[in-house]
Amino acid sequence: MNRLIDQPVNGLAKRISSTLAQDEQELIRVEADLGADGHFGTQWIVVTPKRVLVYQEGEAGEVIDIPIEDIAIARTEGLIGGARLEIHRKDAPSVFVPFSKTQAQKFSETTRGIEQLRKGQDFFVNGDLDKTRCKECNRLLPEKNGICPACINRFATLGRIAAYLKPYKSRALWLAGASVVTTVSELLPPIVTKHIIDDVLVPTVDTEVLDGDRLGMLGMFVLVLVGIRLLTWGAEWVHGWTITWLSARVTADIRSQLYKRLEMLSLQFYDKRQVGAVMSRVTSDSGRLQDFLVDGLPYMLINGLMLLGILVALFSMSWQLTLYVLIPIPAIIAWGVFFWRRMRRFFTKWMQSWSDTMSRVNEALTGIRVVKAFAQEEREISVFKTRNDKLTRVGIQAEVNRGVFFKTMTLLTAVGVMIVWYYGGLEVIDGDLTLGTLMAFYSYMMLLYGPLEWFGMVNSWMTRAFAGAERIFEIIDTPPEAYQDPDAVPMPNITGQVKFDDVTFGYDKSKPVLHEIDLDVKQGEMIGLVGKSGVGKTTTVNLICRFYDVDRGSIQIDGEDVRNIRLEDLRSQIGIVLQEPFLFSGTIADNIGYGKPGATFEQIVAAANAAAAHDFIVSKPDGYDTVVGERGDSLSGGERQRISIARAVLHDPKILILDEATSSVDVQTEKRIQEAITRLVKGRTTFAIAHRLSTLRNADRLLVMDAGRIVEMGTHEELLEKMGAFYNLVQLQEEISQIIAIKE
Ligand code: ADP
Ligand code: MG
Repeated sequence: MNRLIDQPVNGLAKRISSTLAQDEQELIRVEADLGADGHFGTQWIVVTPKRVLVYQEGEAGEVIDIPIEDIAIARTEGLIGGARLEIHRKDAPSVFVPFSKTQAQKFSETTRGIEQLRKGQDFFVNGDLDKTRCKECNRLLPEKNGICPACINRFATLGRIAAYLKPYKSRALWLAGASVVTTVSELLPPIVTKHIIDDVLVPTVDTEVLDGDRLGMLGMFVLVLVGIRLLTWGAEWVHGWTITWLSARVTADIRSQLYKRLEMLSLQFYDKRQVGAVMSRVTSDSGRLQDFLVDGLPYMLINGLMLLGILVALFSMSWQLTLYVLIPIPAIIAWGVFFWRRMRRFFTKWMQSWSDTMSRVNEALTGIRVVKAFAQEEREISVFKTRNDKLTRVGIQAEVNRGVFFKTMTLLTAVGVMIVWYYGGLEVIDGDLTLGTLMAFYSYMMLLYGPLEWFGMVNSWMTRAFAGAERIFEIIDTPPEAYQDPDAVPMPNITGQVKFDDVTFGYDKSKPVLHEIDLDVKQGEMIGLVGKSGVGKTTTVNLICRFYDVDRGSIQIDGEDVRNIRLEDLRSQIGIVLQEPFLFSGTIADNIGYGKPGATFEQIVAAANAAAAHDFIVSKPDGYDTVVGERGDSLSGGERQRISIARAVLHDPKILILDEATSSVDVQTEKRIQEAITRLVKGRTTFAIAHRLSTLRNADRLLVMDAGRIVEMGTHEELLEKMGAFYNLVQLQEEISQIIAIKE
């Protein structure tokens, strides 16, 4: 959507529509979270094709109307703790709109939009910003683009979780049965004790009962109690066992579904997110969900039944007394609701602190080499300490509050018990109630408050578990890359002709990285891509693999748009050596064979030979069985590169892509790889990106890129003769190599 629109607060919509002309279109409407003086307050900015409007605070606030043609320049300027949008006018004082750091992205888009209009360029802003606040309730989100725990539809989520039980219907039935039995068997003992007291210990009804009978009855009742106890034990056993089994299965199902989806999601998805945050979906969110399934869901049933059963029992014994003991209930509920509202704030804060702390740990440990290289351990420790302290403070606050909550709850519960003693006692004295009934009443009261407290507490707990579940579902619902799209064109035998037709692409649609690229590559041709760093070379080859889809134009392989080719066929016939070679932990042979499971050892060795890697591999003590650490840490950069070249050539691709594949090897080795590559590229279409221009001498054609465009194209000799961009690059490198030569 090529607009950037915040939802206006009440009253503002009217104000805006009354100032705009009938057919005036809002391109941008954003809220700044600071007042004009930089203090607390809000201002709104509306941009239409003709003017910029700034709505100052309040209904009566001024509206500054700035026609686009009066603007000299719009820009954002950083301030301490925030920034401001500055609109400089040609003949009037400048207008400043301060905003806080969290809105930086929004305002950079706004500024760019205004500038585009001012310069008469195409208007293109990114309306799909990172979300930091909930759209519906405007609360701060626990994580960027996250889910608002307060706005979840619990029933829908619960339904979705429950749907995972479907494959395990019979176990679920066992569970439900066990829950019912547990509940009933917990409700029975007070009735039995009532009979023990009234019929055996203090017989009021039938005074002629003999002592012998009383003894027998006592024995019988105690036996019944034992029976009930055994029943409870059995039901709890079945219950515990099924729930553990079920919850483990269901979470495993959810987790593997989640992981499956994570593997299938596009790179675009990952570009927008931190890996740490995605990982926590798999680990902590699914763990939390499991906790809820074990300790939450089944007790929901048990405690619900329990409440119902207790109320029925109480009312059937004495409805008057029941009404009395229910007096504190509204207070208990009100207190619970009030309290958990309050707690939610703490939880959100806590969750934010937690993810802050963890992402810092993740980053610092991943980058431990950099930390050590610059001797910044102390700084990292102190950053961590600050965050950890904050986390602890928030945690303590939450715990203290929770403590107060439970103590108050107990106090309110005690009120109910006292009512039972006082009014129940009066009725016993008056002879309206038997002692046994009073005792049963007392027991049920004790049973009643447990479930009540549980329901008060489970709310927030459920909120957290469900927020986790929703975060998981969000990923499961993200459309994956279409690997087996039935409409896709199967192309099991690509010849390797590649055509770029007017391709424009940007990782962010509003900021193109490649502009109108046209290119026609014949089958078997070797193309060298050169240019300064950041001009879009890697991006160009990413598009051939369809890691991303083009924004405009198309890329065709053998005349078929890559978007129509079955992804599996496309990727399996492209061999790519990434700019940053990544190896998995495992042996060298495993890593070479990664793209072709089941490759024979001979094939692996042949691939290693082709990549000039065989010699260094066999010189290692364990040869092909050498274990490379996580990410291949135990190998040098050049070794890693050669292994990844071997990996790329193993499955004999029709299109070979080498992205700076030889940047980390010495000149000698490079020569050898060079020869190997010359052999390799025969019969394949090859795209080679190289930093060292001499590497590309054998290329059929060289493309020189600059700022996302192809600026020169031709053979090595042609381009040198032309004395253009390529010539300059070569000159530059020669100077550098001369400097190196002198030093040596
Ligand atoms: P080269 O390979 O020529 O050095 P790239 O194609 O990697 O350049 O990058 C071109 C531009 O795209 C750079 O400005 C870079 O910052 C940007 N870029 C690269 N990858 C991403 C990404 N995943 N998300 C956003 N921007 C990116
Ligand atoms: Mg690159």
